[in-house]
Amino acid sequence: MDFQLTKEQAMIRKVIRDFADAEVAPGANERDKTGAFPADVFAKLAELGMLGLPFPEKYGGADADSICFAIVVEELSRVCGSTGITYSAHISLGAAPIYLFGTEKQKEMFLKPLCKGEYLGAFGLTEPNAGSDAGGTQTAARLKEDQWVLTGSKCFITNGSFAKHLAITAVTEQSKGTNGISAFLVPTDATGFTVKANYEKMGLNASNTTELILEEVTIPKENLLGEEGKGYKQFLATLDGGRIGIAAMAVGIAQGAYDKSLQYAKERKQFGKSLSTFQAIQFKLADMAMNIEVARNMVYKAAWLKDQGKNFKKEAAMAKLFASEMCMRVCDQAIQIHGGYGYMKEYQVERFFRDAKLLEIGEGTSEVQRMVIARQIGC
Ligand SMILES: Cc1cc2nc3c(=O)[nH]c(=O)nc-3n(C[C@H](O)[C@H](O)[C@H](O)COP(=O)(O)OP(=O)(O)OC[C@H]3O[C@@H](n4cnc5c(N)ncnc54)[C@H](O)[C@@H]3O)c2cc1C
Repeated sequence: MDFQLTKEQAMIRKVIRDFADAEVAPGANERDKTGAFPADVFAKLAELGMLGLPFPEKYGGADADSICFAIVVEELSRVCGSTGITYSAHISLGAAPIYLFGTEKQKEMFLKPLCKGEYLGAFGLTEPNAGSDAGGTQTAARLKEDQWVLTGSKCFITNGSFAKHLAITAVTEQSKGTNGISAFLVPTDATGFTVKANYEKMGLNASNTTELILEEVTIPKENLLGEEGKGYKQFLATLDGGRIGIAAMAVGIAQGAYDKSLQYAKERKQFGKSLSTFQAIQFKLADMAMNIEVARNMVYKAAWLKDQGKNFKKEAAMAKLFASEMCMRVCDQAIQIHGGYGYMKEYQVERFFRDAKLLEIGEGTSEVQRMVIARQIGC
């Protein structure tokens, strides 16, 4: 067993860590306030070749492994959760299903531009009446002559305004239950397709969260992704990979909150001493450091299993569950260590706290992760 990063992984970590500190961190608080999308950051990430990172070079990717992907998500999230989720969703939800289930022609048409960073990837599963229970999908697709016609709506979809097409689930045969759900690649400029970005959120304010409305949207027959009736299974498999991304985000946000807390504890003096000399504060920092380390190892293990072609469903769910709950605890303690200043926006840990909450909800809530793990351990 080798716990050392490979040369490539270490190199990518250095590049993205420097980039995050120099290009992403400076505007993060302002973007949180205004909700401005970090478009310039993504243009630069495209130049760095990060937007197709884990996909083969023949599609414009960098052929890197899933640990590299996790490292990039972690480092971006360490300074800006909104940038982290945008990147993670682009790769693991937008591009991955096309790579995993698309035909060669679909990969040429839809994956290549995503890898080049011409626009962002997105994934539409959740609906107003189908969240944790994605089997309750109501958006419907029917074949009319040689075209699919889609009608319905999706909610909370990340990157919708910056995508030129999305992978979307729709019911093709109601009587078959989850085996009657299929996936489609839908251009966002198709007639009848509306993308709205009107949500007022608790955190991740600079990320783009959208509502999609499909009114008789007509797409070519060949835009079916994978086989008819396999959409539900495909999306569950996509979410397994996505959970590595959310878990890596959690490690990154927690690391960012911890770094700020350690620095603050050393600088802030009360009772004539630095906070970091008080055992109560030391124990908080020790617990934070330990939990981040455990979560990072869990993320790397799930990513490693994925790269080995082994089953990683349980490990991805465990990593996502542990890391997201750990991140909430760490961010809570980070505010506590900062005292009243932690409650103020200037010190940034309150942003981390607000951003972290989504990690216990998106790509399967904590309750859903426990259900996935329970099934995997044979309950
Ligand atoms: C900022 C943001 C970005 C998102 N991005 C995307 C995206 O890009 N694409 C996408 O498709 N979706 C996206 N989502 C949606 C997200 O995945 C869902 O919100 C999530 O899966 C939960 O669904 P829900 O909100 O409908 O909650 P519900 O399913 O209504 O759950 C409500 C509560 O009930 C619990 N619950 C539900 N069923 C059970 C059960 N059987 N047993 C025990 N407890 C249960 C849940 O755990 C939760 O605590 C995003 C959401 C947010 C907030």
